[in-house]
Amino acid sequence: MANLKIPVGVLGATGMVGQQYITLLNDHPWFEVRYLAASPRSAGKKYTEAVAGRWHLIKTYAPHVGELMVYDASDINSAVAAFKKGECSFVFSAVEMNSKDETKALEEAYAAAGIPVISNDSAHRWTPDVPMLIAEVNHEHTDIIPIQKKARGWDRGFIAVKPNCSIQSYMKPVHALAQAGYPAQRIIVSTMQAVSGAGYPGVPSLDMIDNLVPYIGGEEEKTEKEPLKIFGAIDNGIIKNVEKPLISAHCNRVPVTDGHSACVSLEFAGKKPASMEEIKAIWAAYKGLPQEADLPFAPKQPIIYREENNRPQPRKDRDADKAMAVSIGRLRPCNVFDIRFFALSHNTVRGAAGGGILNAELLKHKGYIT
Ligand code: NAP
Repeated sequence: MANLKIPVGVLGATGMVGQQYITLLNDHPWFEVRYLAASPRSAGKKYTEAVAGRWHLIKTYAPHVGELMVYDASDINSAVAAFKKGECSFVFSAVEMNSKDETKALEEAYAAAGIPVISNDSAHRWTPDVPMLIAEVNHEHTDIIPIQKKARGWDRGFIAVKPNCSIQSYMKPVHALAQAGYPAQRIIVSTMQAVSGAGYPGVPSLDMIDNLVPYIGGEEEKTEKEPLKIFGAIDNGIIKNVEKPLISAHCNRVPVTDGHSACVSLEFAGKKPASMEEIKAIWAAYKGLPQEADLPFAPKQPIIYREENNRPQPRKDRDADKAMAVSIGRLRPCNVFDIRFFALSHNTVRGAAGGGILNAELLKHKGYIT
């Protein structure tokens, strides 16, 4: 029987995020992994050989993926040949190269060669005509893709990225409130971020056991600035950032394997909700995605509110709804701003590969990938 799934490639297939892509796509109803690429160190090996001794996940890869040859991600010609053979319609990018300029150029080379790139990397997050997508929050930013393609003379290829994992837990609740007529003016957020967010081998164990590290390079700037593009609007061929909410972030690395948490204090810009119950009702009703979009990775309940005063917790709640939902708790009035709450999301699923897959589903739904 003909294979009706869209063939996809994974760049950085051997890394932490690449491995998540491979396992999350094991039984995906729309996509099938058929092309793999990583650094020259892995190139030329079968995937089984390339990841031998450095497989990080409990779940394993599909047998056919283990047999695939790993290509050098910089060898665009091999990817184009795979595209022509019907083995690589678009790629997920999860490479960690020597510099962001290298990654930027690599992703542009794929797009220019006609292969759309759905990226996890930060290289193109600030490129003004590249959408930085959280599917539920700013799916309308995909409208910039025809503008991006036209401006660069790309026929089939384009680049879409996802934002940093540190902001995933609180963007949906803040967006839900804004949609209901209660935009935020100022936010103070303290994150407690899992060690898996630093890749493998990540932070040395002697820094993490019985300890926390109150600094993650570059993370506070990303946490404060990326929401301003995501809440922005397409204007004159670019995504124009908003100025509010003003965000002050403290980002901490904590000894948790998976799951980034955040303590959020929020001040509304104008009108305030009448009660905590009204806010919980707004979060419970929040869908984010257009009603007609039936995307396999979309959580049924994008925001799950936990009434227990000791939840959510990373170990108990990070896997909620395929690890794609965010879990919220401890909503209460704030003595300084208006409200405060606790938020949690799975950093390598919702914050990385799962978020990338949901973006690809959205782009397929909108006809940008075929
Ligand atoms: P990682 O575990 O270090 O994996 C890096 C991958 O990039 C490997 O497949 C590696 O291949 C490949 N690579 C390294 N140098 C390369 C080169 N010169 N050319 C081509 N490929 C090269 O990193 P990671 O944690 O998976 O992160 C990957 C990307 O996702 C990064 O941009 C990171 O910022 C982003 N991200 C990570 C997380 C997270 O939670 N970890 C969350 C959001 C976004 P070899 O195995 O052959 O060396």
